[in-house]
Amino acid sequence: MPDTPMVAEQPDQDRVEEYDAIVIGAGISGIFMLYRLRELGMTTRVFEAGTNVGGTWYWNRYPGARFDSESWTYGYSFSKELMQEWDWKEHFSPQPDTLAYLNYVADKFDLRRDMQFRSTVQAAQWDDAATQWTVTLEDGQQARAQFLLTAIGILSAPTLPAIPGLDSFKGPAYHTARWPHTPVDFTGKRVGIIGTGATAIQAIPEIAKQAQQLTVFQRRPNWAAPLHNAPIGKAEMEEIKSRYEDIYAHCAKTPSWFIHEADPRTTLSVPPEEREAFWEQLYAAPGFGIWMGNFRDIMTDEQANAAISAFIAKKIRQRVTDPKVAEKLIPQDHGFGSRRVPLESGYFEAYNRDNVLLVDTINDEPIERITPNGIKTSKKEYTFDFLIYATGFDGVTGAFDRIDIRGSHGVRLKEVWADGPRTYLGMLAEDFPNMMMVLGPHTARGNIPQVVEHSVEWQTGVLRFMREHNYTRIETRPEHVAEWTETVIKAAEPLLSSKVDSWQTGVNRNVEGRHVRRVLGYNGHGIHFRQKAAEVAAHGYQEFRFG
Ligand code: NAP
Repeated sequence: MPDTPMVAEQPDQDRVEEYDAIVIGAGISGIFMLYRLRELGMTTRVFEAGTNVGGTWYWNRYPGARFDSESWTYGYSFSKELMQEWDWKEHFSPQPDTLAYLNYVADKFDLRRDMQFRSTVQAAQWDDAATQWTVTLEDGQQARAQFLLTAIGILSAPTLPAIPGLDSFKGPAYHTARWPHTPVDFTGKRVGIIGTGATAIQAIPEIAKQAQQLTVFQRRPNWAAPLHNAPIGKAEMEEIKSRYEDIYAHCAKTPSWFIHEADPRTTLSVPPEEREAFWEQLYAAPGFGIWMGNFRDIMTDEQANAAISAFIAKKIRQRVTDPKVAEKLIPQDHGFGSRRVPLESGYFEAYNRDNVLLVDTINDEPIERITPNGIKTSKKEYTFDFLIYATGFDGVTGAFDRIDIRGSHGVRLKEVWADGPRTYLGMLAEDFPNMMMVLGPHTARGNIPQVVEHSVEWQTGVLRFMREHNYTRIETRPEHVAEWTETVIKAAEPLLSSKVDSWQTGVNRNVEGRHVRRVLGYNGHGIHFRQKAAEVAAHGYQEFRFG
C-alpha cells in the first residue's frame, strides 16, 4: 500500500480555499460521503489526519485486528459493480484486507484527488453572516465551506490509561489504535498489556504466540464468545455474490442491520434442556448469533440474562485449565451482552499457556504506577520490553470533543453536549447550522457500513432538497431536538446495557468529565429509525428551519 498516494495538492498556507463542502475523515463514512457529494456536483475537500484512507482500519493495526461481523455483510452495498469485483478472503476480514478494500474503493472511484491527508482538523467555526464554516487545521491552514460533514467515527479518539508515570517507561509503548505501520516483532520479548476489551481479546492470543512472556493486566473482565472464522474459497465467494441482494435485504429488516436476528421466544419459556441445546448451537456457530440471534429477552430481562451469563461462564470454566484463572475471567459486575460482546479466536486458551500471566488489578494487585522498567502493582514490579495500552476510546462524542466546534453565537459543541448530546436523528445538532454528522450521537447503531450508507443517503438527500429550493442554510428546531432526544433516552431505558459502565454509555475514567453514564445511541429498531428518517424526507424536512 503506498503511504503517499495521489492526493489533493496542499494549497498555499496563506490562501483560504473555499468549497461547497468540507468532510472531516476519510474512513468508511468520509469515503462514501465524498462519492455522493461528487455526484451532486459539489466541490469538496476531505481532511484526514492519517496518511491514507481507512479510518478505523487505517489506525487499528494491532495483531489480530479483524471484523467480528461477517465480511460479506460489512462492506459497501451502494455499488453492485464493486460488490461483484471484490472478493473477501475470510468470513471475518483481517485488518490488512479491510484496509486494502477501502483503498480499492478510493482507487476505483478516484476519490483521493479531493482528499488531503496528514491534516488534523483542530477547529471549525460557523460564520452566520457568510453562511459558511471555517475549518482550521493543526498546522494553521484554513478552508471554508457552506457545509460541514463530520465523518469522524465513533471509536476514533483513543485514550491512554490515567496511571501515574505513563511517560516514564523506557521501552516502546503503543496504544493499539496508534500501532506502528511496520510489524512489531515480539519474539523473545517480555510484553505487558493493559486492558481486556474487544481489542485486547483479539490481540492477546496473537501476541502470546510470539512473546517470551505476556502479562495481562485486567481491570474488569468482559464476556466473550468464539468467532469461528474461516477462509472463503472462490466458489463460496461466487455463491455469496449471487445472494448479495437477499443478504442486504435481510439485514435491512433486523433491529441492528446485521444478518443475525433474535429468536422470538423468551428464555424461560423454553425448557432448560432445549435452551441449553440452542445455546450450544449458537456458541458453535460463527459470528454474533450468540448475542443477537439469542432469545429476544436476554438484553432486557434480568433472569434471562442471568441464565445466558451462567451458560457462558460454564464455557469459560471448560476452556480455561486453571480454575482460579477461569474465575478471574468471568465478569461479576455485568451480565452477558450488556457491554459490547467481543468475539474471540483462542482468547481463553491463551491463559493455558505457560508464557501468559493474568494479573487481576481489581481484586489482587492494583496497578500503582508505570515505571521506567515496566509496571508496579501493590505486590511487585513487573519488568517489560514492550508495553501495550489496549485501553479503548472516548467513544462517540470523544472525537467531537477533540475539535473546537463552534456554532451559532460562538456556542461550543463540547459545552452544549457536556451532559449529553442534543440532536435531531443524530444527524444535525442544535445550534450548529449546515453541519451534518455521519455516525453522530443519537443516530441508529449496529452494522456500521449499513448505518453509514443510510446516513450519507439521507444527508445528501437534504442537500439535494436545499439546492432544489434555493436554500443555503439548514438548522434544527428546538422542539424536534427535544422530541428526538427524549425518544433516544426512552429507547435505552429497558436495556440492561444502559445500567452498565462502558464506552457505549459514555463512561471512560481516563477522561475528565466522563464518569457519568449518557445515552449515546438510538437503540430502537433499525426499521423504525429508517421509517422516521424517510417520513421526515417525504414531508419536506419540516422538522428543520431553512433559509
Ligand atoms: P474497551 O472495550 O473500552 O476496553 C478497554 C479496556 O482497557 C478495558 O478492559 C478497561 O477496563 C481497560 N482500561 C482502561 N483504562 C484503564 C486503566 N486506567 N487501568 C486499567 N485498565 C484500563 O476498548 P477496546 O477493547 O479498544 O474496544 C472498544 C470497542 O471497539 C469495542 O467495544 C468494539 O465496539 C470496537 N472494536 C471492534 C473490533 C471488531 O470489530 N472486531 C475489535 C476491537 C474493538 P474496564 O473495563 O475496567 O474499564
